[in-house]
Amino acid sequence: MADISQALLDKFGRPARDLRISVTDRCNFRCVYCMPKEIYGTDFPFLPRRELLTFEEITRLATLFSRHGVKKLRLTGGEPLIRRDLDTLIQQLAAIPGICDLAMTTNGSLLTRDRAQQLRAAGLNRITVSLDALNESVFQQMNDVSFPVSRVLEAIEAAAQAGLTPVKINMVVRKGLNDQEIEPMAEYFRGTGHVVRFIEYMDVGTTNGWKLDDVVPAAEILDRVNRRWPVIPENPSQPGEVARRYRYRDGHGEIGLIASVTQPFCHSCTRSRLSPDGRLYTCLFGVDGRDLRELLRSGASDAVLSDVIGSIWTARNDRYSADRQAESPPLPKVEMFRIGG
Ligand code: SAM
Ligand code: SF4
Ligand code: SF4
Repeated sequence: MADISQALLDKFGRPARDLRISVTDRCNFRCVYCMPKEIYGTDFPFLPRRELLTFEEITRLATLFSRHGVKKLRLTGGEPLIRRDLDTLIQQLAAIPGICDLAMTTNGSLLTRDRAQQLRAAGLNRITVSLDALNESVFQQMNDVSFPVSRVLEAIEAAAQAGLTPVKINMVVRKGLNDQEIEPMAEYFRGTGHVVRFIEYMDVGTTNGWKLDDVVPAAEILDRVNRRWPVIPENPSQPGEVARRYRYRDGHGEIGLIASVTQPFCHSCTRSRLSPDGRLYTCLFGVDGRDLRELLRSGASDAVLSDVIGSIWTARNDRYSADRQAESPPLPKVEMFRIGG
């Protein structure tokens, strides 16, 4: 099929470049800002297996997205490593023509050395591991399942050893909970080749009780790091990159800042998200995804599916974060673990 990527722009002229694929809505953590335990208890109705897209369905959709110009895929969740036989999916996705980058975001809990090597061998290029604190009690308070810091640090090293580099480390900063960990995290990972990305706590979903007061602005985070270890801005490594990059003046690597709340980057947002049950969202703050599974399972042809995907993208006018200040009260939203971070 011809490359139609040039033609596919949304209402604000943004091309479709990245697809985030959430492979499961389940997770073995109960991070207080994502899946608070009180709501996601043992009786929570997670999706039954038959409702999840199969690997073949995911690969078929990803192939159609790549024909519309998507170059980057990221596997996420829930916790993606919970999904059985993920290597098979990775192999299939890595073989799609036009896909230049295949990455994954994980909490690291299941990422042993062997697992990291298997993922690499299957065709995964890079990995992002989430870690919100180095202090044991702060981290356990945040993951809320008593998962130890040391196991996540081992996972980061396992990823690096397997060549899933540079390893990025996502730290969601929530005021009063883990903001005292900003400097220790920067210090620990300086000079390791891994890149810590400080993420402003976002108002995704409806269950985390988000308040603007809980956000530590990225400018403040940067200032705190810069005071200890001076940094200079670095150019984006690719168009549409959400993290602002800064390099330590002393050559000890770089950090990233994701200022989704205080400095929204909707103008350059090229992402769409596929939920585990096959709904397509064109914004992290989407309300209602478009059900592609129904189309897939009712026998729609590639041409029909491709037209639907194309028309969803060309109709896209999302810019929730940029409009956030103007919108009051906030609109209803989808939960993040359903569509992936
Ligand atoms: N379970 C995997 C993990 O934690 O890495 C992948 C899914 S998780 C939803 C993806 C990313 O979203 C994680 O780095 C997580 O810290 C981040 N995240 C979740 N809730 C968030 C929130 N309210 N604000 C900012 N980032 C959030
Ligand atoms: Fe699970 Fe990731 Fe959400 Fe934490 S942030 S509860 S690890 S999906
Ligand atoms: Fe993209 Fe929506 Fe986030 Fe804006 S709010 S950057 S459009 S996902």
